[in-house]
Amino acid sequence: MPEYKAHFRCFQGCAGEHSIYEIIYTCPQCGGLLEVQHDIEALRARSADQWKQLFDSRVGTTEWPYGSGVWGKKEWIIPTIDDENVVSMYEGNSNLFWAERLGNQIGLSDLWVKLCGNSHTGSFKDLGMTVLISVVKQMMNDGVPVQAVACASTGDTSAALAAYSAAAGIPAVIFLPEGKVSPAQLIQPIANGAYVLALDTDFDGCMRIIREITQDTGGRSPDSSIYLANSMNSLRIEGQKTVGIEIVQQFDWEIPDWIVMPVGNLGNISALYKGLKLMQDVGIINRLPRLVAAQANKANPFYLSYLNEFKEKVTLEAQSTLASAIQIGDPVSYEKAVQAIQETDGIVEQASEHEMAAAAAMADATGMYTCPHTGTALAALFKLLERNVIQSHERAIVISTAHGLKFTPFKVGYHEGTLAEVESDLANPPIYLPADTEIVKETIQRKLT
Ligand SMILES: *Cc1c(COP(=O)(O)O)cnc(C)c1O
Repeated sequence: MPEYKAHFRCFQGCAGEHSIYEIIYTCPQCGGLLEVQHDIEALRARSADQWKQLFDSRVGTTEWPYGSGVWGKKEWIIPTIDDENVVSMYEGNSNLFWAERLGNQIGLSDLWVKLCGNSHTGSFKDLGMTVLISVVKQMMNDGVPVQAVACASTGDTSAALAAYSAAAGIPAVIFLPEGKVSPAQLIQPIANGAYVLALDTDFDGCMRIIREITQDTGGRSPDSSIYLANSMNSLRIEGQKTVGIEIVQQFDWEIPDWIVMPVGNLGNISALYKGLKLMQDVGIINRLPRLVAAQANKANPFYLSYLNEFKEKVTLEAQSTLASAIQIGDPVSYEKAVQAIQETDGIVEQASEHEMAAAAAMADATGMYTCPHTGTALAALFKLLERNVIQSHERAIVISTAHGLKFTPFKVGYHEGTLAEVESDLANPPIYLPADTEIVKETIQRKLT
């Protein structure tokens, strides 16, 4: 078997390679983002069919760590990591839900929802965090002085970081924008023993501070470091990129026409593209699906950049939105996401508070349990279908990024009719009755006839 390799390089193409195990997040020359570069020639030494067989054979295995949806593709992720340093909760391999009833209601019979929220901490962030924490564990075992891992978060990154670092016994420091995450997202890192700092600012403000605190050393050996766990650290992207590979695998290696996902900091759509592109480079697929990035219109810098044809990056102060995990005004992975949209003939769409809440409620009424971000993606899909951009015979996948159970106040507010700017047309409140059989019977009959 050939030896597989991966290293960091500058996303903008500056010369130089950096070890995966070095404390470095940005290019020392241009200050831009890094990305993990794989040895495509070595990967191509195995045929497409051999890769498919290998990956298929690992689904559900108990052979450590290959039963994880991420580590089942280890050669494509971080090939050089020792198996005993992998910190995994068997993330990935999430259900690809055929949304048959919802699809029939909107006239799109081939509609599927990739339920990434069915995961250890309830969001897709687990896919990236298993990679980052595994690399940190290997670094620490090799004597690199890492004091702690740290992130700024809109809620789900911190939940994932806290869980994976607790499982590895690595201290975690978490910066949350005070009052801007759900109660479940706040209590998750607290329960996992992370050091939680609630700052009187928004996500972008937390991100600015964490960048200072974790400043990379440009390759020089630091005395000790707080290691950055945000998706600006491209190790996260390596794990998250499995989502697209997994979708294609779940369709017996067929490519769908569209993949729609909610976006904020733009790491996840960059990752989706990177995984699909790698499949194409290795020869497993011969075209790419079209990608759709969905934003809340209260926090829509990427949408506005799309409208100006990406001539310049728009940044703004994000307004309060129900889709709190994408309430971001200065997205870190902007350049990577522009590539993802441009190279896939992609689209950026936006949704209002009402549109996202209504789409989520409609999906729930067909058996899903949809977070507001997934609602945003569904609302974008509905609009593109209405405009006939997405056509009724096409196969479309919506990436559900988190579990609805993490957003109980959103659900309660919808069904109580108390959400700002939302008409709760599908509200389904409980009926309060006395414990009287006749009254109960009558009430049910009135409802059912
Ligand atoms: C993080 C997150 C997103 C956005 O992902 P980015 O990589 O920041 O674009 C969307 N939905 C949920 C639920 C998230 O937690």
